[in-house]
Amino acid sequence: MSNLSSVVTEVLQSFPEKRPQLYFKSSLIALSHAMEDQVLAAGEDALVIASFQREKFYKQEAHRYLKIGQKCSQVYVLAAPESDFDNSSEVYEKVAFSLDDPLTQEWHLVVIAPNYTSCLVCREKTCIDAVEAVMDNSRRFEGIWTCEQKVSKKAAMILLQRILHYRPELSEKVKRAITTYCLQEEVETERETNSDPFVQRLLTYLQAGQYKLMKAYRQLAAKEKKERLLNSVTTAIRHSMDPDEILRLCVEKLGEGFGVCRCLIYRCQEEDTEAEIQHEFIREGVTSIKGYLWPLRDNPLFREVVAQRESVSIDDVKADARIQTDTKVLLPLVNSCCLVSWLIVPILYQGKLLGMIELHHCRGNPISWKPEDIALVNTIATQVGVALIQAESYAHLEELNEQLEALDRTRSNLVAITGHELRTPLSTIQVCLESLANEPDMSEELKQVMLSTALHDAERMRQLIQDFLTLSQLESGNIQWHPEPLSLQECIALSISQIRSRAKGNSLPQIITDFDSSLPLVQADGEWLVEVLSKLLDNACKFTNGNGVVTISVRERDSQTLEVTVADNGRGIEPELLDKVFERFYQEEGALRRSKGGTGLGLAICRQIVNTWGGEIWAESKGKNQGSAFHFTIPIYQENSPLKIANKKNRKKQNSNR
Ligand code: ADP
Repeated sequence: MSNLSSVVTEVLQSFPEKRPQLYFKSSLIALSHAMEDQVLAAGEDALVIASFQREKFYKQEAHRYLKIGQKCSQVYVLAAPESDFDNSSEVYEKVAFSLDDPLTQEWHLVVIAPNYTSCLVCREKTCIDAVEAVMDNSRRFEGIWTCEQKVSKKAAMILLQRILHYRPELSEKVKRAITTYCLQEEVETERETNSDPFVQRLLTYLQAGQYKLMKAYRQLAAKEKKERLLNSVTTAIRHSMDPDEILRLCVEKLGEGFGVCRCLIYRCQEEDTEAEIQHEFIREGVTSIKGYLWPLRDNPLFREVVAQRESVSIDDVKADARIQTDTKVLLPLVNSCCLVSWLIVPILYQGKLLGMIELHHCRGNPISWKPEDIALVNTIATQVGVALIQAESYAHLEELNEQLEALDRTRSNLVAITGHELRTPLSTIQVCLESLANEPDMSEELKQVMLSTALHDAERMRQLIQDFLTLSQLESGNIQWHPEPLSLQECIALSISQIRSRAKGNSLPQIITDFDSSLPLVQADGEWLVEVLSKLLDNACKFTNGNGVVTISVRERDSQTLEVTVADNGRGIEPELLDKVFERFYQEEGALRRSKGGTGLGLAICRQIVNTWGGEIWAESKGKNQGSAFHFTIPIYQENSPLKIANKKNRKKQNSNR
């Protein structure tokens, strides 16, 4: 590091009464050109010292210095070399200063002529925002511009010393300059500098123009930033119909766009106690709070946003009374998340709260949230709200579509199957009745056969319609349930007696029961419980020959549930069909080859009923001719407990889940 000092500092130290001013680069260019033009126009042999920060700036003005050098004998040009600028004596003296010389940050032009002087000594200020960084003419310098002789001479002396530091061989020439222009002599009376007030005014206009330009540029840049961010969020949203994907993209874009330490988006509703942080953007080094539960109900700021339907912005959490007095939630939250400045914006759709966007500033000094930034986050929150609703509607629509398609398939199947199931017995009945009507000579025996076949098929049709209506009612949830404490033994006995009376003398397999006499009561609607038992028992008897055995057993699965099993050693079911048998109209033999009767709806009805009390039903079989076992569960009656039957809404939900 060089120990060379700043020329600006030296001049200011020499004239403590001088206040440095701020100049835009564009103003300095105008001033420098005016000073150079004066030298060119005046025709006096002047001492001119110009110091450029870098060679490239000098190059832009080189042609002017060529002309000045041809007019004046004492011209010195200083610059930090970049390519071919070096210490040399040509039309004027070139001085290449080192890159660690403070001159690299400064801009000087000193003119000392017999009848006038002027001096410009400035140092560049580091730019404070991105707008200044991209707008070269907005670069700012701090220093003095004056026509005063004493200041100009002092500046000339300081610069000449610096020139000798780099080019000691010029000492004779420099000495000549000092004597010719009386640089070391006290200035007793400052000569009139008429141009000063005029130039000052001109300079003010120039500066004002530059300010306006910069303001306009800033507004433009802010608008562009807003549009860019909005565009990127909209594009991101358009790319997905998945709410989680939308939030993930938005949190990234927002976090990056605002350059905050942390950005959160979480979904919540007004009455939520807390929300899980699922979407987060963090800058490097900032603690992640993804997966944490964010307090809502006891969070006064959340409540405030909800109540006002407006964002809350806190520039400095330390100066915010709401936070500092809330030692329960806010203060611990601020400490654990290292919050310095905080912005909370609600995601609303038609007044309904869908979630929150939070921007956290976690390091260094507090920042103040600009109204235009808050407005931008609000606009984005609105977009996110619409996107979320759209995505959700789309998802619902898809779900609905699937349900509709499934319903349509079911309806078509049902129409086809029901049509077929009804037409078959109807045709038989028709043939029998036509034969009876058209063939009076038919034997009595045949007449009996015809009649009993027609009656049998009429009964099958009645049964089919009955089962079909029952299933429809169960599926639509339009059934009044009367759950009550029941003795399972009694229900089983009732279903066995029903099956025996229906058998009308036909041989049935042996039916045995296997359960404790001290079984607890169950909680169910008796009518429907007997329906399930009868249907299972009916099947077991149907698919087991007269020598077989059907067993009804009951066991306590746990303190709340009994498991009922209706097992047989009959036809059995192939393992891959164990689930299929519960589907509507499933029959292993198919309608035409059916030898055992039945409607194919029995097990579907059983499943609906069992599900209604929250139970399960399933089939087990080792395969063909290995017998089958049908199990279902039923809740044990609990004294002093509310009824366990699922409400109508739940029943519908269970139905639709199938
Ligand atoms: P169905 O009125 O035809 O009995 P279900 O819905 O009750 O209608 O039964 C559907 C099908 O499941 C039956 O047709 C049969 O193929 C099979 N199934 C039901 N119970 C048994 C059982 N105990 N043994 C063997 N197969 C059975």
